[in-house]
Amino acid sequence: MKLVIATHNQHKVEEFQRILAPLGVEIVTADISEPIEDGITFAENAKIKAESACKETSMPAVADDSGICVDALDGAPGVYSARYGGEGLDDVGRLELLLANMEDVPAENRQAHFTSAICCVFPNGDVIEAEGKCFGTIAHEADGEGGFGYDPIFMQEGLSFGRLSPAEKDKRSHRGKSLREFAVKLNDYLNQEQR
Ligand code: IMP
Repeated sequence: MKLVIATHNQHKVEEFQRILAPLGVEIVTADISEPIEDGITFAENAKIKAESACKETSMPAVADDSGICVDALDGAPGVYSARYGGEGLDDVGRLELLLANMEDVPAENRQAHFTSAICCVFPNGDVIEAEGKCFGTIAHEADGEGGFGYDPIFMQEGLSFGRLSPAEKDKRSHRGKSLREFAVKLNDYLNQEQR
């Protein structure tokens, strides 16, 4: 099964390929436009991206919308994770802003979670959705060079996601969970189609 991925984020492409290739799903990229993500949930934004990519390519298209939700910030940055602090910031700028906004928050109140919503849209209009979360805390400073985005400040069991090997991250991460759930649903869908 070949799916076009609706993202320009190379890290996400690699995570999709890593997790879905062993399950028989080939992820391909295409030159697609970026739709306006004006949904108020991760699931809504994932669907906006997948629908747009499916329409442009006439292929089954899959998208992830994801982000980090921090309890002490009432769930921010949430669906605005990629735009936290405005257009001028890069990944490092965004995580530094998050650390600055958490400066006065004591260790016991630094809970956070990542969410990944997956949506796959088929040219006939069929839709498959999946979601994964992973829970941890926000570090006091960035640690580790691995992963991307907020990984260096997201801690689980004393270790930042920036310190995990790709395989370890996939085992624990929101995207690892959402993609494994998605693969099961995709398999069921394809089996039904054959009947
Ligand atoms: P999206 O590409 O519009 O879904 O934006 C995702 C945002 O959440 C970006 O700012 C990412 O850096 C962040 N994000 C999503 N998944 C991860 C992850 O696995 N690790 C670190 N940051 C992530």
